Amino acid sequence: MNAATTNQHRALYAALPKIELHRHLEGSIRLSTLIDVAREYQIDLPAYDMEALRQYVQITPGSPANSAHFLSKFAVIRRFFCAPEVIQRIAREAVEDAAADNVKYMELRFTPKALTNLKHFSFGEVVRWVCAGVQEGQAGRDIRVRLILSMNRHESVIEGERTLRVALEFRDKGVVALDLAGQEAGYSAEPFYSLFKEGRQSGLELTVHAGEWFGPRNIREAIEKMGTKRVGHGVRIVEDSTVVQIAREAGTTFEVCPTSNVQSGVVKSAMHHPLRDMNQLGLKTTINTDDPSISNITLTDELTLATGALGLTLDDVKQSILTAAASTFLPDSERAALVNYFTDALALADPHGEPNPVKPE
Ligand SMILES: [Zn+2]
Repeated sequence: MNAATTNQHRALYAALPKIELHRHLEGSIRLSTLIDVAREYQIDLPAYDMEALRQYVQITPGSPANSAHFLSKFAVIRRFFCAPEVIQRIAREAVEDAAADNVKYMELRFTPKALTNLKHFSFGEVVRWVCAGVQEGQAGRDIRVRLILSMNRHESVIEGERTLRVALEFRDKGVVALDLAGQEAGYSAEPFYSLFKEGRQSGLELTVHAGEWFGPRNIREAIEKMGTKRVGHGVRIVEDSTVVQIAREAGTTFEVCPTSNVQSGVVKSAMHHPLRDMNQLGLKTTINTDDPSISNITLTDELTLATGALGLTLDDVKQSILTAAASTFLPDSERAALVNYFTDALALADPHGEPNPVKPE
């Protein structure tokens, strides 16, 4: 694909209304905010100008593509959850940045435990501050945000239990779902089954990181044992036709994050990414950013990559946005309205001519 076509696609996607289903708050912090906060709260940083700091908190060209390197960026970022105002600001700015990229609906996730560690805040406090930041970010902007609370496989079930309790406490304040994240290899999801069951029975929706850093067996487990409707990543499903069949029959939606998969070494390169294969196998897929600040990307970048190196068509990308609308963790009537809105909006966008900016309702 030549540069002119890439630019044309980028302009089209920038103008398109979009949906994000898989974005971590902890991976969405602006570099400029890290510097501001470090100065204000005297956090020791390896560098205090944006370009010098970049290599410590972002994946830069030529850096190793493996999970350890990818996760090492979070070690720096964890030192920033040092005050209510900071957590609230980070949440507000994550919403502002998504709105600026024309994301109309976003399910933003975070791990309460990760935000409590530094200053021993309570789970309830950090969730309240994030909710307040999200409210501020939404005010006066054409974006709706819901929250997903993550717990980690490699951490204790007690932390998971706390996450479930706070998710239930904030269910009427924007929290819609639970997520299982963390290290897949070597850490079974089984200890968390009962928490996910209770969450589901109490009206929370579920998503599980699976088939990213471990094989398709984890995807099968998430669907069959945990009752999840959505799987985070799930790209390794293409290795097992039985699990493909199970996901297809269950109607599972995959929250695919292409750049993240390349940067963390899950796939060799964008050209080797299995998103197109997943579509051809009849799986329901969506395109997401995972950690836009760490990866230095926007959702527009990911859609542009999809019709570039990943080999999708413009219609495939539009379909992925509609799939995302139909897979949101909203009440049925709100989800149906969102699907209608996106069906109309995407039909208006002309893939062959100039970008046709779509006005929201
Ligand atoms: Zn993720």
